[in-house]
Amino acid sequence: MRAYDIILKKRNGETLVEAEIQFLIEGYTKGLITEYQMAAFAMAVFFRGMSSPELARFTESMLHSGSVIDLSHIDALKVDKHSTGGVGDKISLPLAPAVAACGVPVPMVSGRGLGHTGGTLDKLESIPGFRVDLDVKAYKNLVENIGCCLIGQTGEVAPADKKLYALRDVTATVDCIPLIASSIMSKKLAEGIDALVLDVKVGSGAFMKTIEEARDLAQTMVGIGAHMGKKVVARLTNMDQPLGRMVGNSLEVVESLQVLSGQGPQDVIDLTVELGAEMLVLGAVASDIDTGREQIKTALNDGSALAKFAEIIKAQDGDPKIVNDYSLLPLASQTTEVTAAKDGVLKSVNTEKVGVASMLLGGGRQKASDEVDPSVGIEVMVRIGDEVKKGQPIAKIYHQEKGLEACKQGLKEAFVFQEEHVAAPALFIERVDKGHS
Ligand code: URA
Repeated sequence: MRAYDIILKKRNGETLVEAEIQFLIEGYTKGLITEYQMAAFAMAVFFRGMSSPELARFTESMLHSGSVIDLSHIDALKVDKHSTGGVGDKISLPLAPAVAACGVPVPMVSGRGLGHTGGTLDKLESIPGFRVDLDVKAYKNLVENIGCCLIGQTGEVAPADKKLYALRDVTATVDCIPLIASSIMSKKLAEGIDALVLDVKVGSGAFMKTIEEARDLAQTMVGIGAHMGKKVVARLTNMDQPLGRMVGNSLEVVESLQVLSGQGPQDVIDLTVELGAEMLVLGAVASDIDTGREQIKTALNDGSALAKFAEIIKAQDGDPKIVNDYSLLPLASQTTEVTAAKDGVLKSVNTEKVGVASMLLGGGRQKASDEVDPSVGIEVMVRIGDEVKKGQPIAKIYHQEKGLEACKQGLKEAFVFQEEHVAAPALFIERVDKGHS
């Protein structure tokens, strides 16, 4: 078999057979197939796509390019959540402990922020001492003993995806539904889960700008799950404005702690409750979504989810005292407000610009090797449909020396006002539980 023939076949729009896919992924992982051949292959997939069974085989090969964690000794259904990424999306932080507190084990392997989107690992690392680099043995122990573990992708998990993702990043092949779906699903299925809830973001701060694209991605991932015998449910949710009020690592931990204490912004609470309910149903702890919602709300309101988060923090070497004393988190002491230039109603937010504005303060990375400053970020003080008066603060910037002017400018451009009334966008757009087959 030759890589050349496989590339040619895909370039001509034909369907690859299992042996060809295996040859390609194994060869690429071992360095026997060159980066330029794999780049050509990715571009062929970009233009020609993949059939559903072909994509399932491709995902399976990526999944088996590394170790697949075995959690079968834990006598419960293990369920995780994955978000396709957005701005202010801190949901994993309140969600994982809330679901674990309700009795469903949550093994969660998360990523770092890149570009305008934040990453769960960076948020967790703003908790003093918190370690996300635990090995597989410790990960298994924590899932078994406290019902949750929050770590980063180890070198052993889906190494083919690690290489391919970096290659796609520099060859204009990231925004390709089969490649995104196989990338996400190969990593998630390597965690040892039984079921998965996907939060597919749609809007100005998301990868997917339209409902049609988001639906296609959701159906593709649900279909891959079905081929592999895993239950996957996707929710399409709005990302036309930041989620909650806080954007930035420590700030988002504070907001998550508020939600875990029965407070916090309504959209963050609603999304935690909804995704949590889906996870409890998949984990067979709730008989239906309504019951699941009540169980999650109870965990957020009775202190059990917050106590679980403290337990997780302690087990991962962090300082659990932060759950009651937010001053232990690194927060920038300098603040600057951005105010409305005239009276009006908030019409729209260029959410990607808000994410970039936070990144420019040092809150995110332009390239993977950049350091992140956990203390900086933005408090967004208006939501679409809100009326504002000239001079009213619309955002508060928490900053050090870096990037203040660029951040201010970005925020001024990001918020668009008009005179007429605007309806607030609905957070929940669609539910997908049937995939392409
Ligand atoms: N997230 C991933 O893990 N992979 C992609 O391809 C896109 C987003």
